[in-house]
Amino acid sequence: MLGTSLLELTPSELPVPGSSQPYRRRQLADWLYRHGVDSFDAMTNLPERWRQELASRYSISPFARVERFLSQDGSVRYLFTLRDGKQTEAVYMPYRHRKTVCLSSMVGCPAGCRFCATGALGFGRNLTKAEILGQLLAVARGEECPPRSLRNVVLMGMGEALLNFDHAIGSIRTMIDPMALAMSPRRITVSTVGLPAKIVRLAAEKLPLVLAVSLHAPDDETRKGIIPTAHAYPIEEIIEALHVWQESGGRRVTVEYTLLRDVNDRAWQASQLQKRLEGLTVHVNLIPFNPWPNSGFQPSSKAATEEFRARLEAAGLSVSVRYSRGRDAAGACGQLALTRVGSEA
Ligand code: SF4
Repeated sequence: MLGTSLLELTPSELPVPGSSQPYRRRQLADWLYRHGVDSFDAMTNLPERWRQELASRYSISPFARVERFLSQDGSVRYLFTLRDGKQTEAVYMPYRHRKTVCLSSMVGCPAGCRFCATGALGFGRNLTKAEILGQLLAVARGEECPPRSLRNVVLMGMGEALLNFDHAIGSIRTMIDPMALAMSPRRITVSTVGLPAKIVRLAAEKLPLVLAVSLHAPDDETRKGIIPTAHAYPIEEIIEALHVWQESGGRRVTVEYTLLRDVNDRAWQASQLQKRLEGLTVHVNLIPFNPWPNSGFQPSSKAATEEFRARLEAAGLSVSVRYSRGRDAAGACGQLALTRVGSEA
C-alpha cells in the first residue's frame, strides 16, 4: 500500500530526518517542485537511509497511470488514472510566449451545464490537493520542462473548483509558495459556474487570483435552460458577489460566455449583458461552442459572433473571442470527457 503523497503537505510540513535540518526540507522541496522528480531514488543529494525511510512512508505521484493525447495545434491532453481507478484530465497549451496548463479539480462535474461534455459525465468525486498539484507536475514531466517554467494555470478543466474549495485553494497556496512552484497568483485563474457564497469566501482568502465566471447568458430564463445551478443562483446574486470580490482587492473578473446559436447570441442579449456588467472591471471571453456528440447545440455563426463582440465593444467592454485549442484531441473548452480521441504519445 502506497503512503500519502508528499504533495498533500505544504512545503513547510515536509518531513525532515532527525530534528534540526531545515536545509534538508528545502532540498526535498527542490526535488519535488524545481526538478519535478517522481521517485525518491532520483533525489541523489539526500542520504540513502533517509530516501528509504521516505519511500517506506510516502509516495510522490498520486496517479496510477498518465497518458498523453496530442492535438495538431500543439496542445496536449493528459488523461490521469487515479489510484482508485477513476479518471480526470488536464490540458497543456504552449503559446509563443507562455505555457498554460488547464487543471481539473474533480472527476466529472456536478454542475451539469448542458453544453459541456464534462457535465454530461456527472460527478465522480473531488480531487485531493495532491491530485490537483500532481497534474501540473506530471505535465512538466511529460513535456520535459522544469515545473517552474509552467507559469500560467487555469483551474478550468473538469469540475467546479469552488465546490472543492479547500483542496483547490490548498493546491494554489503550494503553487505560489516560494519554496515550491513560486508562481504569481496573478497568473492563476479560478473558474466558477457562479456560486455567490463561494465567490465571497474566495474574496476573503485575499489572494490576487483571476476569477473567471461562467455567465453564458445575461437573463435568468436563458441561463436556467443551459446551467442547472442557475435555478438556485439568480444572476443578480452572482453580480453582487462579483462586486464584493472586486471591492476586496480590485481584481479583474473574466466573464466566460459560450456562444450558442439562437440561444444566447441575440442582439438584445448582448445589450443586457453589457448592462449587467456596468460598474465591474471585467473582460468578456466569448467562446465559440465546441461541438460534441448529442450535445443538442450548434455554435453561433462567425457573423453572429463578430456582431455580438462588436456590440459589447461599442458599449466600452473589453472583449476577446477565445478559439479553443486541442479540439481534435477532445481537449477544448467543454469537451473534456475522458475520451481516447487524439494521437496517443
Ligand atoms: S462548464 Fe464547468 S461547471 Fe459546467 S459542467 Fe462543465 S466543467 Fe462543470
